[in-house]
Amino acid sequence: MDWRRQGPQRDHVLARRDRFDEAVFDKVRPEDLYRNIPEYMELEEKFGIRSTFFFRTLYENGNVDDYEDDIQTLQKGNWEIGLHTDPQSVNDIEKIKVEKEKLESLTQRSIIGNRVHFLNYDLELPKKLKKLGFLYDSSLRYSKDKIDEKEMGYSKIDELIEFPVTLMDAYLFTHMGIKENGIIPEFKKTLELGRSFSDQNVISVIWHDNVLKMKGGRIYGEILEFLTSQKDVKILPGKDLVKILK
Ligand SMILES: [Zn+2]
Repeated sequence: MDWRRQGPQRDHVLARRDRFDEAVFDKVRPEDLYRNIPEYMELEEKFGIRSTFFFRTLYENGNVDDYEDDIQTLQKGNWEIGLHTDPQSVNDIEKIKVEKEKLESLTQRSIIGNRVHFLNYDLELPKKLKKLGFLYDSSLRYSKDKIDEKEMGYSKIDELIEFPVTLMDAYLFTHMGIKENGIIPEFKKTLELGRSFSDQNVISVIWHDNVLKMKGGRIYGEILEFLTSQKDVKILPGKDLVKILK
């Protein structure tokens, strides 16, 4: 969840109108173009899966408190809430602690999963996260344009489980230059690669809150349809995956 509940400023959205189909752009109010929590819930419910929603506590011109109702609704529906730590907090355990406690004041339960905004990973981070009670992190990516063995699976770093980011909307569309009709084939290829390394591999997928109505991002439903059609694929939020791995 990169954006405040009200979405970016109007100008920001209007400057990106070519990311949307004209019909969508005309139909939806600019402040709702980036807002997709109910749609994500509906889609995942349809395919019987649950994911993790990583919330920031520091939003540009916004406040995470505005998400309180969404957070409650997600939790009641068994979705996991994780922390989307600010890149500026990574070096300072006290700052991460403040962010974790802020989010926990809204969830009323412990947050165990972390992902840093802009994937601002740091070698000292796992130690800090472990100390604060996190069980896993998923902020690590070695390259911006490759999907190989290093970008999947998991490792234990300082007693914290680390899931590298395997597939992310933004990298697929920008750094890898993949068009909408190339996304499902890319998922297929990635699964094949994962299977070739291990019969119990882990692939982590990031799909941002704001992309579901955009060209490219709108095929999330097709991605779920494809993944759930694979007999050997299980889709889990981080918290459930950690339980299995333990
Ligand atoms: Zn982010």
